[in-house]
Amino acid sequence: MILYNTLGQKKMEFKTHTEGKVNMYTCGPTVYHYAHIGNLRTYIMEDVLDKFLRYEGYEVNRVMNITDVGHLASDADTGEDKMLKGAKREKKTVLEIAEFYTNAFFDDCKKLNIKRPEVVEPATCCIPEFIEMVSTLLDKGYAYQAGGNVYFDTSKLQKYYVFGNQTEDDLAVGVRDSVEEDEHKRNKTDFVLWFTKSKFEDQELKWDSPWGNGYPGWHIECSAISIKHGGEYLDLHCGGVDNAFPHHTNEIAQSEAYLGHEWCPHWFHVLHLLDSTGKMSKSKGEFLTVSLLEKKGYDPIVYRMFCLQSHYRKPLTFTFESLDNAVVAYNKLISRIAALKAEGEADTEKAQEYIAKFKEAVGNDLNTSLGLTCLYDVLKAPVNDATKLYLIADFDRVLSLNLIEAAQNLSNAEPEDTGATAEEAAKIEELIAQRTKARAEKDWATADRIRDELKDMGVVLEDTAQGIKWKIVR
Ligand code: AMP
Ligand code: ZN
Repeated sequence: MILYNTLGQKKMEFKTHTEGKVNMYTCGPTVYHYAHIGNLRTYIMEDVLDKFLRYEGYEVNRVMNITDVGHLASDADTGEDKMLKGAKREKKTVLEIAEFYTNAFFDDCKKLNIKRPEVVEPATCCIPEFIEMVSTLLDKGYAYQAGGNVYFDTSKLQKYYVFGNQTEDDLAVGVRDSVEEDEHKRNKTDFVLWFTKSKFEDQELKWDSPWGNGYPGWHIECSAISIKHGGEYLDLHCGGVDNAFPHHTNEIAQSEAYLGHEWCPHWFHVLHLLDSTGKMSKSKGEFLTVSLLEKKGYDPIVYRMFCLQSHYRKPLTFTFESLDNAVVAYNKLISRIAALKAEGEADTEKAQEYIAKFKEAVGNDLNTSLGLTCLYDVLKAPVNDATKLYLIADFDRVLSLNLIEAAQNLSNAEPEDTGATAEEAAKIEELIAQRTKARAEKDWATADRIRDELKDMGVVLEDTAQGIKWKIVR
């Protein structure tokens, strides 16, 4: 597979330390609130990457942390622990908040067909590992104690700016987040490994350590959890682009200082989902969650389709109009699949040609939109329906759009519920999709013409919370 690597900033062949095996680490959610659909864009694209590697025959061991302590409101190691903020907001304990939002996160993942990683580890379960790592960093001279905290000394590194694209201004996180700088840091880029002092003395979760009662910094969590479950050599580390600096830069600093050798050669970052105002946030305006999409009548899988239609290395702007377009595309796709007849045998030899094209598309820096094009090419291909169904099911091992299941549900629903034959249903679904699109584009003339055409076919439309329902009254 060819995959862009933020380390080196170019596309390169993806290689693993042990042949055929991928040690993959994913920064998990900070469980102080629901994930917004921006966070979930990152997890969807990581899921496709994970599944594509398996599709290519790799054995993947994927580890994800749950950040339930130490992620402060500001990257400059000041500000309140986000978890404490969440607990205060809901008048609950930090652990109650963590449990609730961890479950909510995995519920959302399930709805989006995001597979649960092999290992999921909350940070609060790894305090001894963090303490051991910080102690070693102190012993090796990479860390120092000041003002009650333990800091990583970035001046001890040969190279700190590993991703190479930051400027001094980007790096001055204290300035960026308009909070005062920590006077105990020897260098501007130093960061906290273990806190015993913070501006917020009411930190709820604290543990005894050789440096006093306190709690770990956010960055040490991912290094220690990754090494605990993935060993000393990681193949692939993933996260949203905002994680590249300072979080991943600091992870590399402390992991390599601790291990004494290179740690992870390949870094995968997903660009942000933006809303119409720019940066997506959990506090301003309408908080975009999977539940909100469901409340508005959208099937969450359509959001997955929306994400797959774009490249992960481009920012993506979310609007409900563009999601409506994804609904149209998805429904049309499903009705075309539903119209295929599962008769005869699949020509698995001929299918290899299409599988090779799909692998080439997705294997070129995870080009999922080209992967979808391969799917449409299969629908038009000069092969029998059984071969088409075979290929669709095969590609869906990576895309995870419930293609076969949704098409079967549609076919099964037809005779008794709608009164239409499979062919009629495919045509009607397509017309409804075109009408939805025309309405979204305020093309009333087209919308009216389609409505009349449907009426002539005896189709009765009904708007429901699950979208438009229809039946034929003959
Ligand atoms: P958090 O829960 O804040 O720790 O973030 C979870 C994941 O979501 C991290 O990998 C972030 O980099 C990623 N992320 C945060 N905001 C966005 C966004 N707007 N679009 C895509 N990914 C994001
Ligand atoms: Zn992380």
